[in-house]
Amino acid sequence: MAERIPITVANGDGIGPEIMAATLRILEAAQAPLDIETIDIGEKVYLAGNSSGIEASSWDSLRRTKVFLKAPITTPQGGGYKSLNVTVRKVLGLYANVRPCVAYHPFIETKHPSMDVVIVRENEEDLYAGIEHRQTNQVVQCLKLISRPGSEKIIRYAFEYARRNNRKKVTCFTKDNIMKLTDGLFHKIFDEIAAEYPDLENEHWIVDIGAAKLADTPEAFDVVVMPNLYGDVLSDVAAQIAGSVGLAGSANIGEHVSMFEAIHGSAPRRAGQNLANPSGLLLGAVMMLVHVGLTDHAERVHNAWLRTIEDGIHTYDIYDDKVSKQKVGTKEFAEAVAERLGQEPQLLKPRKYKKADPSPTNRTTPASKPAPQKELVGVDVFLDWTSGSANDLGDGLSRLNGDGLKLTMISNRGVKVWPNGHKETFISDHWRCRFLPESDGGKVSHAQVISLLGRVAGDGFDFIKTEGLYTFDGQRGFSLDQGE
Ligand code: NAD
Repeated sequence: MAERIPITVANGDGIGPEIMAATLRILEAAQAPLDIETIDIGEKVYLAGNSSGIEASSWDSLRRTKVFLKAPITTPQGGGYKSLNVTVRKVLGLYANVRPCVAYHPFIETKHPSMDVVIVRENEEDLYAGIEHRQTNQVVQCLKLISRPGSEKIIRYAFEYARRNNRKKVTCFTKDNIMKLTDGLFHKIFDEIAAEYPDLENEHWIVDIGAAKLADTPEAFDVVVMPNLYGDVLSDVAAQIAGSVGLAGSANIGEHVSMFEAIHGSAPRRAGQNLANPSGLLLGAVMMLVHVGLTDHAERVHNAWLRTIEDGIHTYDIYDDKVSKQKVGTKEFAEAVAERLGQEPQLLKPRKYKKADPSPTNRTTPASKPAPQKELVGVDVFLDWTSGSANDLGDGLSRLNGDGLKLTMISNRGVKVWPNGHKETFISDHWRCRFLPESDGGKVSHAQVISLLGRVAGDGFDFIKTEGLYTFDGQRGFSLDQGE
């Protein structure tokens, strides 16, 4: 007998236990060889005093099985409760959020009948690293971090996903015309990795026009990969315009553990009435089957589900007199899918899954080149300052030139204001003051920076942070300001 694959299951809250029972009933009927460990998460665990909604012992199960099928939970009202999803994502390093957004025309109403887009969202980096600071009275900042290994993992995942799911094209969205270093790196790595997949088409769109095109003509896209913030916004837009939010599943993929779920919540008002639609969780479970290599089972379950939708057997939420034939409850829907195992849809496109390359996402590009030569060539000193004009500040700081460093530029919110600023430029209390070597092209030492900061503080300026200006193999590793 085939080896059974261990998975961890959480029944969740509200409609969670019913849709999980329905999902597991279908997986069992499909004879998926799974060994199920059950853990408690959600409301009960929160209210028992665990602020993350998951018990310490549950992590052991997740680390053992590496696969988590999770029903939605209810986060109790009131403060002090941390999002379970965010906790699981951060603790387990779930770097890829994968959300297929599919139209099921004419069975489910949609404005985009042939839409079939998968959004692959980077899940750990970007502005979501959560590094924020209030630096002055007027200004707060959030750091946007994009790493090479983080980008390689998510982009390679998107290409592997496309290959495994018989997709034709991978599109990348960034805003690298503005964020040339951060989004520029993501785009550059996309181009590098795309070259390893000549069997797949690839393209890049600037996220603003790409998003507009996605909302207007989603048929033009297939798999779309993007940094965290754009992915967060656009995965919801895409699910909504597909018309099937209630039917969508999603995967959160990590190097060690991966989590599969429905995108909807625990719908407490529908709980315990055999009303809820188990489709979102079931399609999450199909992604799980593909992930663990049970592609034949995934295909059978997915196609039986498509056939059930096509046969007009619908739960209340998608029931429509014009196309539905039978309104059923959660259990009856699950039985209808189980009865159709082995059948394929006739109008909707049947699904085919290929086995994955065993561990493609663990691959990062091998370090074929030695690490680049990194040199400190200057420093940006950020000040909280309200005592005058840009020219006053320029004069004051120029007096601190010396020890091989000189003030070359001051900007305010990214716009150059000294020397030769424009009187129309809005000025806040947050200044960036760039110091470079007195002689062009020279290097700077940490000792020079520390001595400069001593002079700056000694003259009564409040420096709120510094950023080292580096070159890497001679290439500039910092942005220039508007007006520079
Ligand atoms: P919800 O997704 O639970 O419900 C929104 C609407 O969709 C409701 O009208 C509901 O009845 C309906 N609905 C949702 N799923 C359905 C299904 N499978 N079948 C039929 N109808 C369905 O969103 P909400 O009401 O904003 O949130 C309820 C609770 O769920 C909250 O406590 C929230 O924190 C939680 N939540 C959990 C998750 C998760 O665990 N991943 C995600 C989102 C919300």
